[in-house]
Amino acid sequence: MQLEDAKLATDNCRYCLMCRHVCPVGHITRLETLTPHGWGLLIASQRRGLITWNASSVDKLYSCADCGLCRSHCVTDQPLPNAIAAARAEVAAQGLAPASLYPLNEALLRWGNPYQPAEPQAPAGQGEVALFVGDEALYLWPAALDAALTLLKAVGVEPVLIGAGRSNGYVASSLGFPDTARRLAEANLADLQASQASTLLVLSPGDLFAFRQLYDERLGLGWPAGVVLQEVTVLLAERLAAGELRFARKELGGTKGTQRNSDPITQSPSPSGMVPNHLVTLSPGHPYAYVDPAHTVRAPERLRLDAPRSLLAAVIPSPGVELFWRQERTHPAGSTSLKFANPQLAEHLTYSRLGDAAQIGARLLISEDPGTLHALSTHAPRFGVQVQGLYELLAECLLIR
Ligand code: SF4
Ligand code: SF4
Repeated sequence: MQLEDAKLATDNCRYCLMCRHVCPVGHITRLETLTPHGWGLLIASQRRGLITWNASSVDKLYSCADCGLCRSHCVTDQPLPNAIAAARAEVAAQGLAPASLYPLNEALLRWGNPYQPAEPQAPAGQGEVALFVGDEALYLWPAALDAALTLLKAVGVEPVLIGAGRSNGYVASSLGFPDTARRLAEANLADLQASQASTLLVLSPGDLFAFRQLYDERLGLGWPAGVVLQEVTVLLAERLAAGELRFARKELGGTKGTQRNSDPITQSPSPSGMVPNHLVTLSPGHPYAYVDPAHTVRAPERLRLDAPRSLLAAVIPSPGVELFWRQERTHPAGSTSLKFANPQLAEHLTYSRLGDAAQIGARLLISEDPGTLHALSTHAPRFGVQVQGLYELLAECLLIR
């Protein structure tokens, strides 16, 4: 079924230019091959026997970021990213995928994540609300989880943590390993069932996309009936609007920076080796910009509510500046599956986001997604910008009632 969908989508995309202008990879490479219709034509041509999978064609196939921009701008909702993932699954099964991806797949099968040789943690108890931790929050930007839990506790929500240290399955699915993705997804769903939660909170739109759409469309896994899926930012924005949350206003220039790099669950040093800024110093004339995370375009209700910006406005009174590739046209910051398939290209996506920010005068970039924060912070110094986690900023300004 997935392969049949792929064939249909690429036949529709191969001569269509209607989403070409939003593709971030096409934007940075300026190569026609690396645009949505380029990938459509590549896959459709292979299926017709006009080309074969070789080093060059496989390199092109693995250059798509699986970001969802094309589909989100498609009036006929063509699932081109699913088609590309399906073609990659054929290639990977034949042993023709980039060599570096096979050890990655082994790590995902063995450890559930590509970052640390450590088993995922078992769900901690049962309750009405669960929070999916995943691998990026645990290993790439642990301060986000700690701060999110502080904020949730302030509104009376103390979730059961599930999937701590386990991928949501997106990376495996995107890179052509659907069986691995299904195993990860089934383990996450088993954790959810064990928690007995009727609400699952997620820290980023990437997790929302994986649970709501990818599990169903790419893996054939249904979502448990009666379980509500919600981003933490949306819940917090609702509680803010209801008067249940209050924040101190942060005057630019009034905060001392602090550093934190411990794992909020184990309290051990961050295994990523990164030292993310927990709180950075804001100074006068220090314009900030909110950076929409990767996969934002795949979460339509998020675009409608824009919860992160409403939370940010409650803390920083002065308006921020806005990146061009934001909201319904959010380009990812190199944090998608592309960082494993083609790290150099992924880095250029990060440079592009940082370059956008520098060009409009932003000196502080704020986001809540651990993967986006990690990608931005890796290269931020060379662009003269700082990176701040949204959850950490909110937790620091929280007024306890
Ligand atoms: S996803 Fe839609 S808009 Fe984009 S190339 Fe395919 S058919 Fe055209
Ligand atoms: S998923 Fe993203 S990178 Fe891939 S074709 Fe679509 S817009 Fe381009």
